[in-house]
Amino acid sequence: MLTTYKVEIKPTAYQVWLLNRHIGGSRWAYNLFLEMNKRRYEDGYHYMGAYEFSKWFNHEYLAANPEDDWIKELYAKSTKQAFIDADKAMKRFFKHLSRYPHFRSWKREQGSYYFVKNGKRQIIQAERHRIKLPKLGWVRLKEYGYVPTDAKHFLIKQGRIKRHAGRYYLTCLVEQADDVKPELTGPGIGIDLGIKSFSVLSNGLIYKNQNKSNRVKKMRKRLRRLQRKFSRQYLAFKARKQKEGKSATDLNLAKTRRRMQRSYQRLQNIQRDYQNKIIARVVITKPRWVALEDLNVKGMLKNRYLAKAISHQGFYNFRVRLITKCQQLGIPVHLTNRFEPTSKLCHHCGTKKADLKLSDRIYRCAVCGQVSDRDMNAALNIRDTENFKLAY
Ligand SMILES: [Zn+2]
Repeated sequence: MLTTYKVEIKPTAYQVWLLNRHIGGSRWAYNLFLEMNKRRYEDGYHYMGAYEFSKWFNHEYLAANPEDDWIKELYAKSTKQAFIDADKAMKRFFKHLSRYPHFRSWKREQGSYYFVKNGKRQIIQAERHRIKLPKLGWVRLKEYGYVPTDAKHFLIKQGRIKRHAGRYYLTCLVEQADDVKPELTGPGIGIDLGIKSFSVLSNGLIYKNQNKSNRVKKMRKRLRRLQRKFSRQYLAFKARKQKEGKSATDLNLAKTRRRMQRSYQRLQNIQRDYQNKIIARVVITKPRWVALEDLNVKGMLKNRYLAKAISHQGFYNFRVRLITKCQQLGIPVHLTNRFEPTSKLCHHCGTKKADLKLSDRIYRCAVCGQVSDRDMNAALNIRDTENFKLAY
């Protein structure tokens, strides 16, 4: 089984310099691939795949363009991988699977340093706190003991280092034995996602909507202000550039962009952490199944009164993470049909209450007299309904 590990690294100043060169180099190589193939297409030549391109690049292009020789100082596999990535993107385009690939951009922090296990005997060495990579040497990790060090059972095959909001993250692909799937003995769990609470579980656990906490609210406010500042600075920068030619620097603009990215990143990290904790609490009970409403998020976003609140919840990410985790552990995930009236049915007797309003927080059944929390009632219905499809 292949598993991905992701961890932040603590590069030295020299390693940062090297990494930036490699990341920049891979961007350059990717863009060169797109550019050259576009020109070839316009001149009526055939499309060059990654392998052919790489050969042409090393033998003909570099001989004809000695000013690009700096690329030879980089780890060759990393450059070559950029060609492979670009080739993949083009082939996806040819098959109408995606749009015409964009150039890799510095502003969007694209490009990556790529490494791979070469040949059968070589192993990529890792220790509790560091990993040894080509050209970089030993790179310190921020999380100790997470990346597997036992090369006999956990083989690091390849990986990348990418930059995100000014930080460097290592991902590596590891070949390892399949996880032993736990025996599922716990009762099924239904999960109702919402705005008031982030999620209500049929076993009684209620998770607050974090976006209502002061901490997150403050951070969102800060982000909004930075975004406004950025757009103001951007307009001023453009106006200046027109007047004075290229003299004006965009250093301040870059600073604001960085602060904006970091602030956004922090919000994302908080959300991911929160969602992972909920998922961990769900799967630790070893439920026989997990049921989730197949939410029509796109449709819900059309409601402009709720759109912002819903998009901040990150339901889609939650669902993807939950399904991935359950799949690893072999827990079936039921996706309740979108049109199943899970909030309107009484869980106790099954009567449908057609006039239930969105503002009714307490469900009162007129037939059997059952009184329960609206979301809890929905979570129980989601758990027990037969009207579902399996997520995987
Ligand atoms: Zn009832």
